[in-house]
Amino acid sequence: MSDHKATIIDGKLIAQIIQSEISAEVRHLSQTYGKVPGLAVVVVGQGKNSQSYVDMKRRACDEVGIRSIVLNLPEEVPEAELISKVHELNADPDVHGIMLQLPMPKHISEGKILSEILLDKDVDGFHPSHIGKLAMKGIDPLFVPCTPKVCLELLSRSGISVRGKKAVVVGRSNIVGLPVSLLLLKEDATVTVVHSRTKEPERIIREADIIIAAAGQATMIKGSWIKPGAAVIDVGRNAVDDPSKKSGYRLVGDVDFHEACKVAGCITPVPGGVGPVTFALLLKNTLDGAKRLIEL
Ligand code: NDP
Repeated sequence: MSDHKATIIDGKLIAQIIQSEISAEVRHLSQTYGKVPGLAVVVVGQGKNSQSYVDMKRRACDEVGIRSIVLNLPEEVPEAELISKVHELNADPDVHGIMLQLPMPKHISEGKILSEILLDKDVDGFHPSHIGKLAMKGIDPLFVPCTPKVCLELLSRSGISVRGKKAVVVGRSNIVGLPVSLLLLKEDATVTVVHSRTKEPERIIREADIIIAAAGQATMIKGSWIKPGAAVIDVGRNAVDDPSKKSGYRLVGDVDFHEACKVAGCITPVPGGVGPVTFALLLKNTLDGAKRLIEL
């Protein structure tokens, strides 16, 4: 039996480092221009979960000195009214980032609302224009969606260079798999995308120096699918039954963490890997957006 143990990439620690970097930049903006970045979070309906996420976001904003504006709208708000609220935020000079707390109620078209957010303030980076620019050589989008950006950030902050490496992305969704594959390509990796119709995924994944797992399939990637020494970023967040937990479930990734630790060079845990860094990068996107608008 091998006693190899992969290095664990600590997302919580990396998130703290990023947040302290953001704090310093926010202080600098405030001292130089007398302005602080502002992030508006639009919440429709009052689900308990969504409220606790929003509270968490508010606290994280406070910690780095970003002003948070939470717009709570009733569950039954008409779409037209929601659009006019988004337009008000678009026009507000103290708001530099706007994000929607998803999912929205059924009567609201998320795509329609997202497309109403000013491109300069779309800190989630979900607008097709951002993804389109990500796909084009020599052009950078105003914002890169946070979760894909986290994958690259975790690699670089762990000292792993991407250039020339074989990267396999498992998943091709608009919000994770596709943009992460485009980002890797921009960073000069040789990228293969595995999806639900891919034949022999294990053979392809085994060739990868870098694996980004974003399929939403609990522990799908086994230790034997991983090349020894590979870097593994596990984006998956899957709830599996666990009667020993008060909640009755626990979160696991797309990678069999226990097996992967015996083979991989480094790996992100679930929870505690990608998740904590995601909101830190949303704050970073807000700061970058604010710098563009304030320093004009
Ligand atoms: P989607 O369901 O939108 O996309 C899943 C992708 O995985 C699809 O492209 C699908 O292929 C592919 N896929 C599904 N099953 C398989 C399989 N057996 N083999 C290979 N590919 C497969 O999910 P998301 O992209 O939104 O999210 C992916 C995971 O990341 C989820 O677990 C989600 O919870 C997590 N997530 C975590 C975040 C974080 O902050 N940690 C943020 C966002 C997401 P096809 O296109 O052919 O259907």
